[in-house]
Amino acid sequence: MPVAEIIAIGTELLLGEIQDTNTSYLARQLRQIGVDIYRATLVGDNEYRISELIKEAGQRADIILTTGGLGPTVDDPTRQAVALAVGSPLEFRPELWEQIVDRFTRFNRQPTENNRKQAFIPAGALAIENPVGTAPAFLVDVGQYVVISLPGVPREMEAIFEVSILPYLKKRFELKGLIKIRVLHLAGVGESIVDELIGDTERYTNPTVGLLAKSGQIDVRIAAKADSLDEADRRILEVETLLRERLGDHIFGADEETLESVILETLKRKNWKLVVVECSQDDILASRLKTAGFLEERILIQTSTCTPEQLKETIASLQNTSKSEVILGFNVEIGKERHKLHVSLVMPDGLKEITRYYGGPPAMATAWASVTALDCLRRNLQVNNALGSQKS
Ligand code: ATP
Ligand code: MG
Repeated sequence: MPVAEIIAIGTELLLGEIQDTNTSYLARQLRQIGVDIYRATLVGDNEYRISELIKEAGQRADIILTTGGLGPTVDDPTRQAVALAVGSPLEFRPELWEQIVDRFTRFNRQPTENNRKQAFIPAGALAIENPVGTAPAFLVDVGQYVVISLPGVPREMEAIFEVSILPYLKKRFELKGLIKIRVLHLAGVGESIVDELIGDTERYTNPTVGLLAKSGQIDVRIAAKADSLDEADRRILEVETLLRERLGDHIFGADEETLESVILETLKRKNWKLVVVECSQDDILASRLKTAGFLEERILIQTSTCTPEQLKETIASLQNTSKSEVILGFNVEIGKERHKLHVSLVMPDGLKEITRYYGGPPAMATAWASVTALDCLRRNLQVNNALGSQKS
């Protein structure tokens, strides 16, 4: 059996300011796939001490997992420490920089020179995409051992571990058994409410259940380990059924499905058309719908900057002239502390005015607003299912 060592990095861990939960999570995960652990260490944000520790661990273990210290600031030393330990200088990876810039652009922010640091990883390392945060994870296989560096934020670390690292370790060390992952997507509900509804399942060990919040959307990841696909499916189904009972229509889809794809499917099934009127500075809703491949003949998008009153007027006139079954008006106002989303939704059964507030960072507000507006539409389309089937 391969042997692993875990190194949790962060001065705040040593100061007792936060508790090291990453080590216990990784230890549980590794035990279940038959990887032995004899040691785990806490170390502060010090490049030299971290690199010495990695070199020592490399004498004892086949797998070295580090967590933390991958952020963009000077006190995030992991990249440099790994480079030093394995003797490969840091190297700029344009494709990582592109991913980082992409992520920032999506949230309407500008990356700083510091963020550029996150696009550097040791030469020869394999970059591992971080689906939630900006810091890409990476691994270096030096033959005698593998160093795997993961972010410190527990939910990011867990997602990367289950989606990318588990399959990698299985293959690299020919571990038996397989891992299957199913992701349920939720919108229109807060993370704390989801935690309340399914918090107990987050302590399960097989399958594990993990939450990941990303501006307006929450993903619930079910990861099962089993000897056969059938057994994995059976384990997942059992937990998924329970989660669906508890979470009900907060769930809009699973795996590859997106809010856009679910909405488009429903519109196609009903043979309905949708007009979207977007009043926002960056046309976020329009660009989301366009990237999702929305068909021009089914969806018409108008964008401009306007006041909520002008939006209402436009919607009122469209109600009389448009041949579409559904009209979605979208207006978002970014405030200093609180951001306001207004949705006007015209369905065959009438007009609904919906207002929602968001207290998160301004940079996330438009992403949150687009998810929330699409989710209002998705929920109303589901309520109107009966109407649709009568018509078609
Ligand atoms: P970031 O990009 O957020 O800076 P990072 O990879 O640099 O990510 P750290 O700065 O080391 O990670 O940690 C970020 C946060 O993650 C910490 O403030 C802490 O809340 C949490 N965290 C880090 N390490 C651990 C750990 N071992 N156990 C539990 N939580 C942790
Ligand atoms: Mg950090």
